[in-house]
Amino acid sequence: MIESSANIATTQQVVDELRARPAFVMVSHVKPDGDTLGAGLALGLALKKLDKRVHYFQQDPVPRNLRFLPESQFVARELPADLPSDTLFVFCDMSDWSRAGEYLPRVDRANMLDVDHHLGNSLFGKLNFVLENECSTGTVVMHLLRALDVPIDRDIATCILTTIMTDTGGFMHANTTPEALQLAAELMLDGANKEEITEQIFLKKRVAATRLLGRIIDEMTFGHDGRYCYSYVDDAMLAQTGADGEDTEDTVNVLRGQDGVEVAALFKAIDGEIRVSLRSSGRVNVQAAAQRLGGGGHFRASGLTCRGTLQRAFADVDAALIAEGL
Ligand code: AMP
Ligand code: MN
Ligand code: MN
Repeated sequence: MIESSANIATTQQVVDELRARPAFVMVSHVKPDGDTLGAGLALGLALKKLDKRVHYFQQDPVPRNLRFLPESQFVARELPADLPSDTLFVFCDMSDWSRAGEYLPRVDRANMLDVDHHLGNSLFGKLNFVLENECSTGTVVMHLLRALDVPIDRDIATCILTTIMTDTGGFMHANTTPEALQLAAELMLDGANKEEITEQIFLKKRVAATRLLGRIIDEMTFGHDGRYCYSYVDDAMLAQTGADGEDTEDTVNVLRGQDGVEVAALFKAIDGEIRVSLRSSGRVNVQAAAQRLGGGGHFRASGLTCRGTLQRAFADVDAALIAEGL
């Protein structure tokens, strides 16, 4: 059980709120990953077992490699017109409600539950269940599932294990705690399909994605005595290789893995905006750097969105990283 601290709700407060509400919309962040979707689907599946009405909102399509997730076929941009006025909107894995995107209808704060593990969460909900030390939002949800006393079936187990494996990079990142591994083992015993998760999220690549990776590697640039490595993707590179935005997922880790590199950045100039992924080996706080430019995330993994030219974005990110000690 998580006890109360300043503005963070207790497990019991959240469970009481969940029990009191008849209907739910699980909200995931734009360009969804396995954590934001897996956490919402797991909680949605559990609430359905309690005979609650559950919908899943996501403004973008579910990425190809996450369509194996149970119930992901119900994730949609449209919401039914007949939602009760006391429907609770559960925002999963986002440091601010605005990360849900512009298609989400206006929601009163009184109907917002914030379930997250990011640093610098704006605590935007009626209740904020934000546990910064958890490796994924799915493991935050796990506290609720235990307190709700719902049995963890194989579908719920697969969703939660997906959140852990996504956010620990397949148990490689520094957030891979003994507790995370222990929970992963329990979820496998509950029937989670680890092989499918590994295959879909980490092993299987489209040929176009591998060709795009080649182009990204071609464009690698080093700075700050080799401690900084960055590259980019633009619409022309996608057209040349036949890849799309989904195929860029995780390539920033290749840049971060180069000898001597402390911080890596991948600039994705696609469809008129530039999304930047930042990764750190642990000395420089890339969450703080991203926050300087309106983004956010975690100490070692963060992101931001900018408009304007790529050259300008390179310069802005460089300055923010220098300010954070690169
Ligand atoms: P990504 O590089 O897209 O995998 O994102 C890395 C981390 O940064 C994730 O925890 C994201 O939730 C967070 N993040 C990415 N983009 C943004 C943004 N524009 N604003 C706030 N957080 C972001
Ligand atoms: Mn996420
Ligand atoms: Mn997450």
